[in-house]
Amino acid sequence: MTTTPAQAPGELVFAAPRRAKPPRHLADLDPAARRAALAELGEKPFRAAQLSRHYFANLVDDPAAMTDLPAGNRTELAAAMLPTLLTPVRELTCDAGTTVKTLWRLFDGALVESVLMRYPNRITMCVSSQAGCGMNCPFCATGQAGLTRNMSAGEIVEQVVAGARMLRRGQVAGGPGRVSNVVFMGMGEPLANYRAVLSAVRRLTDPSPDGLGLSQRSITVSTVGLVPAIDKLAAEGLNVTLAVSLHAPDDELRDTLVPVNTRWKVAEVLDAAWSYAATTKRRISIEYALIRDINDQAWRADLLGRLLRGRLVHVNLIPLNPTSGSKWTASRPGDERAFVETLEQHSVPVTVRDTRGREIDGACGQLAADPEQLVTAAEPVG
Ligand code: SAH
Repeated sequence: MTTTPAQAPGELVFAAPRRAKPPRHLADLDPAARRAALAELGEKPFRAAQLSRHYFANLVDDPAAMTDLPAGNRTELAAAMLPTLLTPVRELTCDAGTTVKTLWRLFDGALVESVLMRYPNRITMCVSSQAGCGMNCPFCATGQAGLTRNMSAGEIVEQVVAGARMLRRGQVAGGPGRVSNVVFMGMGEPLANYRAVLSAVRRLTDPSPDGLGLSQRSITVSTVGLVPAIDKLAAEGLNVTLAVSLHAPDDELRDTLVPVNTRWKVAEVLDAAWSYAATTKRRISIEYALIRDINDQAWRADLLGRLLRGRLVHVNLIPLNPTSGSKWTASRPGDERAFVETLEQHSVPVTVRDTRGREIDGACGQLAADPEQLVTAAEPVG
């Protein structure tokens, strides 16, 4: 008899190209699997807890500092369980040092980016879940080069741990701090890399020192609307926030702005979102990039208001961020105001998202992990 491994819905439909796997890392494994991995290495299982504490609680990256491990094989243990997954290629900062975008090289040369954003009352890490993206939204820089590969849970978690280390060490303007929120809004479609993303969410939210100990509610998974994967996520018993990148209230326009809409229509995506809200009691975020004369007309604002009114929802309007080669631009201020007012008339909560990181191509839709940046970028971190 042959069996096929269980696959998550998003992965069935949008399988990433097969490639060599990133090295196995502690952050790929739950605590039981960590103990098993150490036993396989001929080590005492309790070393798993020691390594977890170093990684998730102490944020140590130098094996020499892991003094509770036997001096003779510290380096080998660290190499086996905490291999280097991300190598920083370039850091760019703006907003007086409170926004930091990092370009990372993965083990196979693939490039991804993450963005740390410090606000007065929270610190958010925006992480990538895939190198590139297969969703092909024409206004988003990441989509233009297509999908390179899925990232592993360890590669996803390590972006947050790297931010946490910088903050712990006081390397971000504003003094020492902690990551409070994680948004899966960097490169990639998280629900097309379902298993690794879910595993990463568990590592981020498992209590310290098994995980980073973030609250589930402070994690946001953003999706173009892969309906079967939204349903599956709802059934996980997690309280993570779901964001849906809607960008148009009508199928005709959404088919062009978010091409996966040809498969799952606006009504199906919103139904899945409302079920998610009913199951998790979490407010759904609707992301809507305002694009001048494309999706910002009064009638579209009204249609959006009618679709969303009375629901557990919040709309984030994002003034379109410029991307190279795109002919589109952000809405006129008057049209943006009118859009907000129309939604408010429908009693739909709405905010206009700030354009954090725009000068360093670190804002929504601008992450391209473009090596050209190495030459053109201003102001590397000192
Ligand atoms: N693939 C997921 C995760 C990416 S989140 C998703 O699409 O939800 C990045 C967010 O920024 C998405 O809402 C995306 O649609 C939006 N975005 C993409 N390009 C943009 C641009 N040029 N200006 C403003 N927002 C953009």
